[in-house]
Parts: sequence; structure tokens; C-alpha cells
Amino acid sequence: MYCQKCRLLFEGRLCPKCGKDRHARAPEASDPCFLIERGEPWSSMLADVLKQHGIPAIVSGRMGAGLATRVGSFLESSRFYVRYDDYERANAIVDELFGDDAPR
Ligand SMILES: [Zn+2]
Repeated sequence: MYCQKCRLLFEGRLCPKCGKDRHARAPEASDPCFLIERGEPWSSMLADVLKQHGIPAIVSGRMGAGLATRVGSFLESSRFYVRYDDYERANAIVDELFGDDAPR
């Protein structure tokens, strides 16, 4: 299932993040799906590798852009979203880079 609010893919009935089924539906190919959250230098590395594989990703920082530049981008943690039809491939890349038990 896919939660439209959290942009999260999950198994079962309830979204593990918002704990509801209200926003859940079957995923569609163009849905942005939450992949992983990483800080630097991993986020730049992952962005590069995804680009090399031709996987378009939406990357959003946790902090506002203005604040992030002031504090220093290495402190910023980035969230990666990929299209549902790229998700499996992107997930395999993440496993390769960070290992199966990498914290998401
Ligand atoms: Zn949710």
C-alpha cells in the first residue's frame, strides 16, 4: 500500500508513520515514494549514484534551504523520494551502498 500523506510504501493496512489507513491506496507508477533519509556525505553520494542509473529522485532537506546554507550543508539530513516504478531499483542501490541493515 501507499500512504499519500507520508509518501510511504508499506505492507498491511495501516501506515506505520501516521498510523492511519485514510490516506492509503494502491501505489501508482508516478507516486513519489520515500526511499531513505541520509545526511552528508551519504546524501550527495546517493544522489550521484541514482543519477548514474538514470533514476530521477526528489530530494528534500529537513531544514529550510536558507537555514541549511547558514548552518552548513553537512549537518543537513536529506530525504530521498523516487517514483514507485523506480523504487525497487533504487532500493537495491541503497542496499548496495549502505547494506541491508542500514537505518532508514
Ligand atoms: Zn501515512
